[in-house]
Amino acid sequence: MSAPGPRAADADPAARIAALEQARAVAEAANQAKTRFLMGLSHEIRTPLNAIHGYAQLLERGAAIAPTEAGRIIRRSSEHLADLVEGLLDISRIEAGVMKLNRETVALRALLEQVAAMFRVEAQNKGLDFNFSSPANLPIWVLADERRLRQVLINLLSNAIKYTQTGHVTLSVRYRSMVAEFEVADTGIGVAPEDEERIFLPFDRGSGRASGVAPGIGLGLALSRMLAQVMGGEIAVKSQPGGGSRFTLKLLLPPPNAAPPDVPARGLPIGYEGRRRTILAIDDDPGQLALWQELLRPIGFNLFVAGSGGAGLSLAELGRPDLVLLDVSMPGLGGWEVAQRLRDRFGREIAILMASGNADELVGVAITGVHDGFVLKPVDQQALFGTLGRQLGLIWTYEGVAAPSTAALPPALPETARAHLAELARLARTGHVRGLSGALSALAAAVPDAGPLVARLAAALDEFDLAAFQALLAQQPEPAEPAIGDITP
Ligand code: ADP
Repeated sequence: MSAPGPRAADADPAARIAALEQARAVAEAANQAKTRFLMGLSHEIRTPLNAIHGYAQLLERGAAIAPTEAGRIIRRSSEHLADLVEGLLDISRIEAGVMKLNRETVALRALLEQVAAMFRVEAQNKGLDFNFSSPANLPIWVLADERRLRQVLINLLSNAIKYTQTGHVTLSVRYRSMVAEFEVADTGIGVAPEDEERIFLPFDRGSGRASGVAPGIGLGLALSRMLAQVMGGEIAVKSQPGGGSRFTLKLLLPPPNAAPPDVPARGLPIGYEGRRRTILAIDDDPGQLALWQELLRPIGFNLFVAGSGGAGLSLAELGRPDLVLLDVSMPGLGGWEVAQRLRDRFGREIAILMASGNADELVGVAITGVHDGFVLKPVDQQALFGTLGRQLGLIWTYEGVAAPSTAALPPALPETARAHLAELARLARTGHVRGLSGALSALAAAVPDAGPLVARLAAALDEFDLAAFQALLAQQPEPAEPAIGDITP
């Protein structure tokens, strides 16, 4: 067998040594990173474990400590450990390349509204202002992994609130060339320039510890950055110590080729997720108005009705609907004229659906762009809900296995429970067990009537049975809302 010919590095011993030296340095750096990670990890495990161990010993000895206090610390410590395991599993799934990303059609605006609604409550509880803005060109639907996107946004927002004592937290979005840039800005303690990269490392919480802030596990940003990267995007931070921080998440979020199917074969929806939407129906036919009421109120829409174009315009001013269902032919002010005035006054803030029994009336003017869609009378419910869902970016809910019979419905809770129930549903979806027990206590404290529900939910949580937890929440009727009167001429 002949000897292989000399390679470039063999020919140049100095180059060969340099290449070896470089390989050694890379291996060394990787080794050091692994050591740092393991040291951080053992510290993270040891601290709560010590607390559990210490309190267990005290209890065993019959020491005079309040059992509730011991229970609270043991529970918190084990929750901390559970979060740690979840975070580590996520990281290892990403590193092993086995994390599967979903590419699903996501109602982006609805998702952002849900997240904003949840953090608005949290910010208010801390005395902070919360602002949310999204541009008119933000698509209603995009292709993304909904759970992961939500996870990253939640992490950035909860940090913003956690590290801000006064001022405000803002969530804003920009959308250009299919790239969404989410920005979470706060007026909090900020990050030192030398920490701007470190804080994205696992277990690294920066050099200066925030006073008065309970330390987290230090995995949130590491995981968020990894998730952003597997989703093909990036996270960055700009900050001034003492002057607040600005975290940006950039992701390619293309709109789907086709809007999601109108209403799937599951049948007609029984409701939708997120905040209650307001619809204004304008029609000179009282029978048609009654029909809109019958169709839309049970699904959970706030419905105003007006019997003429003039009354409709005044109601739009008062009620700021999300969508207007507008009859084309009405005596006096006609549908198209009303549509034009609504558009001039509210721009794209309000979706306008023209309704007519005559398809020609709708098709002929489809090019004017003053309206967003149309509904043909007599109304086909499947098509109606499809159009409403697309225009409003709704996630419909359907009667499922867990849906109760009306007779078995538990009593509705007061309006003050609404934000708490939404928060519980959100946490249950993300599987955030630690957050759930806090949110349950908050509900129990804020809404005394919720006692029986809280007890059942707590029992499900004790079993870690999130499916049962979600089913109980799904059975809970919408909290009672003060009625809004209708105006008919
Ligand atoms: P945790 O919050 O659990 O400590 P993270 O990975 O989410 O872990 O954040 C790492 C560190 O980054 C935090 O400990 C904190 O020092 C810093 N940090 C994160 N977000 C902010 C923020 N909005 N303002 C100031 N510091 C922040």
